[in-house]
Amino acid sequence: MFTLTDIVQPTTIEEAYAILMKRKNNQIIGGSAFLRMGKKRIGTGIELSNLNLDYIKEDEDYVEIGAMTTFRELETSDIIKNNFGDILNHSVRDIIGVQFRSVVTVGATVFSKYGFSDLIIALLCLDTEIETFSKGRMTLDKFLDKGYEKDLLTKIYIKKNNKKASYKSLRNAKSDYPIVNVAVSKLDNTFKICIGARPQVAKEAKNASEFLSNNNITDENIDKAVQIAVDELSFGTNMKASKEYRYAMARVLIKRAIMEVI
Ligand SMILES: Cc1cc2nc3c(=O)[nH]c(=O)nc-3n(C[C@H](O)[C@H](O)[C@H](O)COP(=O)(O)OP(=O)(O)OC[C@H]3O[C@@H](n4cnc5c(N)ncnc54)[C@H](O)[C@@H]3O)c2cc1C
Repeated sequence: MFTLTDIVQPTTIEEAYAILMKRKNNQIIGGSAFLRMGKKRIGTGIELSNLNLDYIKEDEDYVEIGAMTTFRELETSDIIKNNFGDILNHSVRDIIGVQFRSVVTVGATVFSKYGFSDLIIALLCLDTEIETFSKGRMTLDKFLDKGYEKDLLTKIYIKKNNKKASYKSLRNAKSDYPIVNVAVSKLDNTFKICIGARPQVAKEAKNASEFLSNNNITDENIDKAVQIAVDELSFGTNMKASKEYRYAMARVLIKRAIMEVI
């Protein structure tokens, strides 16, 4: 369990960020589920409940999700379902249980860039942007490629463009971390194929996406795209699975996800 010297509940984002930057060991507290697994000594814990960052709303072009929105809120939101179908719900529904998902937050998850994340890969295959206090708005791809910099993630935006999308994962047991996960989306003739839990963080297989987007959708071309995808991204071994197993399973999952979106 982590320890805190002090805890504050700022009422403005500016104040929260100023406290975060004041000392090296000051830290934001989201749902605190992940923090609880470690033994960190935190100076001032910055709890965000008073910043009104717990919401899901939409305008003509985007769905906007505040950083303190929980997985359960995402999973049960009509706005999310009506705009993106089941992909976000499917990506989080196997994570532990309802009580857990009622606590963990979208902002902490995306900011932490967990390699195993089920939510990040689903967001990546949609057209997602994130906003942090100091850097402003940027695409999720760009954010995931950047090195770590202390900051406060405030919200994410997902473009409303009626993409068809599918999420698939493999776990040793229900509620365990995923061994590998994939997400595929299709908008008109443009495909986006993403692989996560490699065990590194989710990434688009850009060559495979481009190949499938620019060729006829035949059984042969689908198999070719799957092969390009697993060959262009790297896989690794950890205590959950070997890189060979991840490579083989990713092929199966990508093919299933492509078949679903077409
Ligand atoms: C036992 C367990 C099993 C899990 N299994 C899975 C799984 O199978 N699949 C999956 O996808 N995920 C899984 N997770 C991860 C979980 O879904 C959340 O991603 C994780 O708990 C972080 O969310 P939190 O709200 O608990 O963050 P916290 O623990 O509060 O914070 C995590 C980190 O994020 C920082 N942070 C919090 N909010 C912000 C913000 N707005 N801006 C910047 N930094 C911020 C904190 O300072 C901290 O460093 C699991 C977690 C646990 C504890």
